[in-house]
Amino acid sequence: MTAPRITVDLSKIRHNTRCLVDRLKPHGITVTGVTKAVCGHPEIANAMLEGGVTGLADARISNVVRMRNTGILCPITLIRTPMLSQVEQVVENCDDSFNTEMDIIAGLAIEARRKNVIHNIIVVVEMGDMREGILPEHLEGTVCQVLKTEGVSLKGIAANFACLGCVAPTPEAMTMLSSLAVDTERACGSILETVSGGGSANLPWALGKETAGQINNLRLGEAILLGTDPITGQPIKGLYTDAFKLLAEVIETKAIANPNPVQMTDPVLSMVCATIDRPSNTRSILAIGLQDTDAVGLTFPAGVTFIGATSDHIVVETTNSPLRAGDEMTLNMKYSALTRSMAAPDVAKVVRREKALPECIAAKQ
Ligand SMILES: *Cc1c(COP(=O)(O)O)cnc(C)c1O
Repeated sequence: MTAPRITVDLSKIRHNTRCLVDRLKPHGITVTGVTKAVCGHPEIANAMLEGGVTGLADARISNVVRMRNTGILCPITLIRTPMLSQVEQVVENCDDSFNTEMDIIAGLAIEARRKNVIHNIIVVVEMGDMREGILPEHLEGTVCQVLKTEGVSLKGIAANFACLGCVAPTPEAMTMLSSLAVDTERACGSILETVSGGGSANLPWALGKETAGQINNLRLGEAILLGTDPITGQPIKGLYTDAFKLLAEVIETKAIANPNPVQMTDPVLSMVCATIDRPSNTRSILAIGLQDTDAVGLTFPAGVTFIGATSDHIVVETTNSPLRAGDEMTLNMKYSALTRSMAAPDVAKVVRREKALPECIAAKQ
């Protein structure tokens, strides 16, 4: 079979989605499935829809177009704020977009009027992640301006947490977002349909004892795809963490009498590179490299030690059964490896739909 390749188990993605949708429902929170890590892969998007998401979201218009081209008709939100140069495609392909700039909203409005449609605006408020967003004190003004703009409709507000800053949302921040929603509705005399509280990093808060207040939506990527919490990296109870696997082929194995320690030039790679007191002297090369994946985001099988990576090679050492040329190694991916490998042209994507999986039981926890 072609290598390197990612295998995707769609049943596990559907199961993870269903579990999260069912757990959040009693809290009054709907789930938007985030497809950016899989480049809007249409079958994966459909597995999310089968799992009960109310809509999809992606950061790139190219991924949205890919989904639309395969007949996906559900609401799709652009969650990276639009480029002014792309407003036409945004209005054409997305029901909603996240926004922080009045000039871009005006551009979307012109395009919407030209097409005789209404484009929905979700205003992003900056709550401490330090990436995009309107400051809370400017929110009311922006929202009222959106309401006055013909061609667009105010759909709601949203916040980001743990995207740029590795800061988990505090209950206080969530309470503040909720009261901002109330204040905005009061000041502008308009009901906010969506108050979107963040991504997978917000799950512990959303499933906790605090009430969700006005917050009625989360946008989930990592939790659905990998079954892990982005802050701790820990598996989420009841979810599959192995829906994706990366397979790479061995192209060389040599016994090395006195292995020289490898001095990595990349400081990030040298952190994960084990060079001292290795018991093994069998070194193998995998035909996959930094162009195809993020070596730091890979987990190797037991008995395999990562030595280093270049653009086209990953070097490992093995302690037990040596690998032979032509053998395949299965690697697990963290989010960074998943995103890069899904976007890499030389990594094949093979989807499988396995037999039915057990129902989600975790809703009762
Ligand atoms: C990527 C992204 C998400 C999803 O984040 P996960 O941690 O994968 O759940 C949500 N919102 C925005 C704006 C994003 O860019």
